Amino acid sequence: MEQDQPRNIQPAHNRLDSIEDVDEFYTAIKRETLTHKLSPERPYCYWTMEVYDKQNGIRGGGGLGVLAADTRRVAEQLQVPFVLLTPFYPWESHQKMSNLEQTDYHVQIDYKDFGFELVDTVRIKTATTAIELSVIEKVLGSTRFLCITEPNFGELYSGESGSDHRLYQEVALGFGGYQALKLVGLKPAVIQLNEVATFFAALARLDELVYSGMDFYEAVVYVRKHTLYTNHTLVQAAEANFAYSQFQQYVFPNIKSTALQRWLADKFTDGRLKLSTITVEIAELRSGVSKLHARVANYHDINGQKIKFKAITNGIDMSTWVLPDIVAYYRNRKIIDKFNLPTNDFTENIDDITASDIHHYKDLGRAELNKALAHRTDQYGNAIEIPADALLFDFKRRFVDYKRPWLPFTDPKRLAQILETYNAHYILSGRVHLGDTTMFGELLTLLKLIDKDPVLKSRVHYIPDYDEEMGRALSLGANVAINNPIVGLEACGTSWMKDIANMKLLISTHDGGVADMPADNYLNIEGEDEATEVANLYNQMEVAAKAWQNDFDLEYWIKKELTAYLPTISGSRMMEDYLKYLF
Ligand SMILES: *Cc1c(COP(=O)(O)O)cnc(C)c1O
Repeated sequence: MEQDQPRNIQPAHNRLDSIEDVDEFYTAIKRETLTHKLSPERPYCYWTMEVYDKQNGIRGGGGLGVLAADTRRVAEQLQVPFVLLTPFYPWESHQKMSNLEQTDYHVQIDYKDFGFELVDTVRIKTATTAIELSVIEKVLGSTRFLCITEPNFGELYSGESGSDHRLYQEVALGFGGYQALKLVGLKPAVIQLNEVATFFAALARLDELVYSGMDFYEAVVYVRKHTLYTNHTLVQAAEANFAYSQFQQYVFPNIKSTALQRWLADKFTDGRLKLSTITVEIAELRSGVSKLHARVANYHDINGQKIKFKAITNGIDMSTWVLPDIVAYYRNRKIIDKFNLPTNDFTENIDDITASDIHHYKDLGRAELNKALAHRTDQYGNAIEIPADALLFDFKRRFVDYKRPWLPFTDPKRLAQILETYNAHYILSGRVHLGDTTMFGELLTLLKLIDKDPVLKSRVHYIPDYDEEMGRALSLGANVAINNPIVGLEACGTSWMKDIANMKLLISTHDGGVADMPADNYLNIEGEDEATEVANLYNQMEVAAKAWQNDFDLEYWIKKELTAYLPTISGSRMMEDYLKYLF
């Protein structure tokens, strides 16, 4: 790819880690009073079963965990007093390939290796015993991780979703986490529940208020007003539910107030309870993770009333997911400000981006990608390197049914022809969830299909054990991202945000957060049936490949994507939205 050097770029001087005037941010979002409502002793408390932040020792499973990690990082940059309450799982699972099959292995994790310190222990009860949980902590600026852990806590998402072990983990985080807060001398200003599995935190708070003498109904009103439930799931029916006997075993023994026990027991129908039903009883603030998701999430309260969700589309922490040179470039060009928020005139400033700048940053990104690939292997156990002059498509996400990783392989000959014509490679990265036998088989079928076709075999690379490193490296170093969930099933998705922010072309169905903006802002795949979608997908792959050979088209699409989506992508925008909604 022929290119000029980009125009005189200066290093970014306004690093977020040196923001001094945080009032500037609060003033910017017109909530001067916020500083009085949030304080180091009364922080924003965010409860989540999953965080994806391996630098701090915690590996997640997917988007929900990435969101939690990014929310904390953005809070740290904006100096928001923030506590992230989450389990520290002593075990994590990894994947490797043997004979094209994914095999899982488990690694033990020691929190001391990641800078956590033991605070003390707390106890939760079951009907028959008491369990001691260690409270560990890691302070990062205005934020901290406050985690509970014990040797038998297990892995993230171990066991079935309605199982005793899951309920134990959820109760441990809720009741144990609430005690941990008290232990370190904090009171929550607000509680955010990242999905219903964290419901027990709000229950613990309610119990505490009633136990300390507040009138029961006043306490319910108080907790309702200060609790935000963030929903990522579309269909209530798909959610796990628990039996009354499981609550007797794991939940009721932790509730001190008999009034609260009675209130909770009343919410069971035919001896079973869905956590979402009870969560909306205890959280008056409710959000969905994209405009489309907030609109279509089909939830009803205990009286059958449809629940309204406020749309707060997920964002990403740009400092984590975007090539530092690109962040500096956006700052210098006044496309984003020092808070990583789009400037008032970001649209005009994006218009100055040139194709040679894009090529330059993509070359830097490709080098970063190859550095990451050097210590990974493909499906055959070989290290790979993507040539600097080759075009690279990627599909990187969890291997779940609705994301349809196989869709681009529907017509292998057509795919091979596109890859050859444009000297392109294709990297697939994603992992099959433990126990998902359908997708385990799908992956094997796909890898065998690739193995049989000599063109695909030399140009398609599967990288197992998909993680943050691969997610980031591919965002930086590939040219075209493919995102083809079945329309209506992606809650938001954030991989595509990493792609756009790193100046990649996006080929996508109109779903999740992508659907926050009209479909002409990226290379859209539409069609009433799958065959039409596939035909459009291949056409768009050719459009994208040609654009990387044509400066005019490349500039057009990159500017179009950034102009449409930069505000959505900004994690600081998301934090601003949450703060405005909460206060
Ligand atoms: C960004 C990222 C995700 C989020 O993926 P989506 O499917 O787009 O929500 C999941 N896992 C990893 C490792 C990531 O880096």
